[in-house]
Amino acid sequence: MKQILWFRRDLRIKDNAILANAKDEVLPIFIFDKNILDKVDSKDKRVTFIYESVKNLKEDLKNLGLDLQVFYGKPFEVFQKLSSFGFDEVLTSVDFDDYAKNRDQEIEKLIPLKRFYDSFLIHPNDGLKADGTPYKVFTPFYKNLKFIWQSNGLNEFDSLGNIKNLKLVDFNFSSIINLEDMGFSKVDLPEFLNKTAYELLSEFETKIKNYTEGRDYFYMENTSSLAVHFRFGLISPRIAFNIVKKFNVSDDEKEFFIRELFWREFYNYILFHFPNSEFENLNGIKVNWNNDEKDFKAWCDGKTGVVLIDAAMRKFNETGTMHNRLRMIVSSYLTKNLLIDWKWGEKYFASKLLDYEACSNIGSWQWAASTGADSVPYFRVFNPYLQSKKFDKDGIFIKSVIPELKNIDSKLFHLENALQENMFLDYPKQVVSIDFSRKRAIEEFKRANNEKD
Ligand SMILES: Cc1cc2nc3c(=O)[nH]c(=O)nc-3n(C[C@H](O)[C@H](O)[C@H](O)COP(=O)(O)OP(=O)(O)OC[C@H]3O[C@@H](n4cnc5c(N)ncnc54)[C@H](O)[C@@H]3O)c2cc1C
Repeated sequence: MKQILWFRRDLRIKDNAILANAKDEVLPIFIFDKNILDKVDSKDKRVTFIYESVKNLKEDLKNLGLDLQVFYGKPFEVFQKLSSFGFDEVLTSVDFDDYAKNRDQEIEKLIPLKRFYDSFLIHPNDGLKADGTPYKVFTPFYKNLKFIWQSNGLNEFDSLGNIKNLKLVDFNFSSIINLEDMGFSKVDLPEFLNKTAYELLSEFETKIKNYTEGRDYFYMENTSSLAVHFRFGLISPRIAFNIVKKFNVSDDEKEFFIRELFWREFYNYILFHFPNSEFENLNGIKVNWNNDEKDFKAWCDGKTGVVLIDAAMRKFNETGTMHNRLRMIVSSYLTKNLLIDWKWGEKYFASKLLDYEACSNIGSWQWAASTGADSVPYFRVFNPYLQSKKFDKDGIFIKSVIPELKNIDSKLFHLENALQENMFLDYPKQVVSIDFSRKRAIEEFKRANNEKD
């Protein structure tokens, strides 16, 4: 047997399905995909992060007697070349978004692909309703999987055990192509990305007690920061689950966090069962979006005149990171107050978000827009002023992003138009009034929902 082991979103050697299932002679590969990279900014932080992760994977594999051949090109063309070397099959992990599915279908015409459900805790066909259809609401989906999240440990793949049975194909392994040769520059990464997933988890053990209460306070760092590592498979969700289960905290504290891991499962499950949700409103309603380009630009640039939205977007533009609660607030503002199609926001996030994951991003945007899989009524519109009052009372987050506001009384951040009325400031005017735009959204969503029924 001669196999290609195609690493994509599983850049690790531990608990790795393709390494555990490989047999005889192997060629481990990674492809820097030109189809994707050609559309990405030359200073994209994600490319530096993946690049470093691929280098580490190559070293790890070499230390175990294997190696990693790194290609830069279009996957189909890479496989066209490799198909003349007499490989029997390719082992890889699954990806459900539209681009990934089409890419794999094409490659399968050249060489058989064996895909493993390695990046998530469940296969999307597990956890169906008794009638065999998928859940569309998180809570019953989650309850139905109680047997998994209540267990004390999940089985991991014995990849390290299997590696010793493998032999490297006779191939001229070259060193990794430079970032510059692919048209990218190496950029500084935020501090948390210089840590391993295991270091982040170990730090999180000291924070998990504050997770339930504190995870919404976006001026603090109470969450795990693991999303990027999950995205590129630097740790498997099974290992993370097993480590958290051993944390020295109460079961309730562990469960609250593990429940969040199941949101990731849920959105993957939704995209698998409803692939059109990448392009269409999942609940089938037809919204007359306002889709004003100027309003959208103000949102992107952090110049909406609503200081919390502006601070969240400006920090996002600078760092590629955004706290979960802020993502909920800015997505509600875009889709409800500005009445702009969630797909615009989804695309903007996809272009910059360090932890961008198609299923979670699409699912969360549809959730925010009340077009997706959720039980939240469409009339829930976040009020950004009440949100900042509750979660950033002293304006610590806002002042950290917009230094020119550092001497302003934080109470003004929580009052509509208060900054605009301050004659010593030149703060942008509000794009829309919160009250007017809230009512407009509710009326439009009411109409869209009634027409659907
Ligand atoms: C509009 C919007 C877009 C989003 N886009 C993405 C995205 O592209 N990629 C992404 O990983 N998450 C996305 N999320 C979910 C969430 O914001 C991030 O997973 C979280 O902020 C990552 O920080 P953390 O690792 O510290 O999370 P923690 O709170 O420590 O949670 C642990 C892990 O659970 C998972 N998780 C937690 N909350 C969610 C959630 N609501 N949905 C899915 N998974 C979750 C993540 O894998 C996360 O790393 C989005 C949320 C919103 C509202």
